[in-house]
Amino acid sequence: MTLPVAVIGAGPYGLSTAAHLKARNVPTRVFGSPMVSWREHMPAGMLLKSTPVASNIDAPQPGHTLFDYCQDVGERRYESDWDAIPVETFAGYGLWFQQRLVPGLERERVVAVERRTSGSGFELKLDSGEQFAARAVVVATGLSGFAQLPPELAAAVPDGPSPGGAISHSSQHRDLSVFAGRDVVVVGAGQSALETAVLLAEAGAGAVRILARRRGAVRFGAAPDGQPPLRPDTPFGRAWSLYAFSYHADGFRHLPAPTRAFLVRRVLGPLGAWWLRERFIGRVQVTEGKHIVRARVESGRPVLTLSGDTEGPENELRADHVIAATGYRVDVAALDFLGPGLRTRLAVSAGGPRLGAGYRSSVPGLFFTGLPAAASYGPVMRFVCGTEYASPRLARAVAQL
Ligand SMILES: Cc1cc2nc3c(=O)[nH]c(=O)nc-3n(C[C@H](O)[C@H](O)[C@H](O)COP(=O)(O)OP(=O)(O)OC[C@H]3O[C@@H](n4cnc5c(N)ncnc54)[C@H](O)[C@@H]3O)c2cc1C
Repeated sequence: MTLPVAVIGAGPYGLSTAAHLKARNVPTRVFGSPMVSWREHMPAGMLLKSTPVASNIDAPQPGHTLFDYCQDVGERRYESDWDAIPVETFAGYGLWFQQRLVPGLERERVVAVERRTSGSGFELKLDSGEQFAARAVVVATGLSGFAQLPPELAAAVPDGPSPGGAISHSSQHRDLSVFAGRDVVVVGAGQSALETAVLLAEAGAGAVRILARRRGAVRFGAAPDGQPPLRPDTPFGRAWSLYAFSYHADGFRHLPAPTRAFLVRRVLGPLGAWWLRERFIGRVQVTEGKHIVRARVESGRPVLTLSGDTEGPENELRADHVIAATGYRVDVAALDFLGPGLRTRLAVSAGGPRLGAGYRSSVPGLFFTGLPAAASYGPVMRFVCGTEYASPRLARAVAQL
């Protein structure tokens, strides 16, 4: 009997990979909570920064774009670069995609993956207690487990960040209206930080302040008609470099490791969406060029000690709550379901798995896609549109096993 392939993850990458495997008639079991990052770990009312053309989950057959979904369910169509997509619409699109192309999804958690002691392949354990063998495993667990808190903030909350406590991570919030009337500091200057701050202000929070390390960190991108002409178009805007990252991601693997790490950090880095500027100015206060030296919690409220980027006295910033919108850092150690036998054989670079052609890791039969693949395949893997490059290639490599 042919063992199935296990796909761990039911976000855009897991669902897209599973659809491509199914189209190749590869027996596949798919696990995870569908679109959970979008349904539970992003704020209600959020708009996607990616444009409609960059927000399709890649499918092996036509008829499964965001546009097709909107047409099918009778929702307003998001077509032009001027249209911002609500997170609720995108989550609905992902669920629709799953029901059509991955109907056999198992809403279970994989708690352990280890190499089989006899024969090739892997032994997996689910939280239901079921154990089974798979001939290959695709890890598509996305952002799960990678939320990053600056060490100074983490030290102030030994029990971990919590939405009901003094300090939280942005991924812990769905409903920001609970902060009505309360003063909130949002740490960070990326789209998530700036949009969280705007949504807080619009939901009636007291004072809302962005705290950013670098001077000039709070910036917004150009509107679609402000794109430079005479450069190739890509899902992220017009630029030669973005064209290479989008359509020749395989070449990224051959760059020196420090260059790859630098590019993953910097390309398509922190920048507010053009449409957020108007909603931000006048509503959100900004402290730039200051870093957190230490933090403490006093009577349930956070107190941050700040220092400037030039020598100068420290000062304190008090609030009712601090939200760290400080992003995600790939760290294989956080993938706690990978057993010790796998970890010791997994070649790692800058915290993530080192991948070869076809998204193969150094462990035969073990593949990674999405965010953990960004260190090898470039910044596009951090975004939904990277499924177009990754999923067909990954499925082909798995089918060839
Ligand atoms: C605030 C915010 C806004 C964003 N906006 C955009 C945007 O506008 N455009 C864009 O392209 N990208 C955006 N992104 C990035 C986007 O989240 C990722 O590109 C995308 O979600 C990655 O999809 P994924 O399938 O890899 O992972 P995820 O969507 O994170 O899905 C992970 C899946 O893994 C499953 N899982 C995890 N662990 C296990 C386990 N042990 N067993 C079984 N299943 C497991 C989960 O249940 C889930 O189904 C945004 C990210 C954030 C944080």
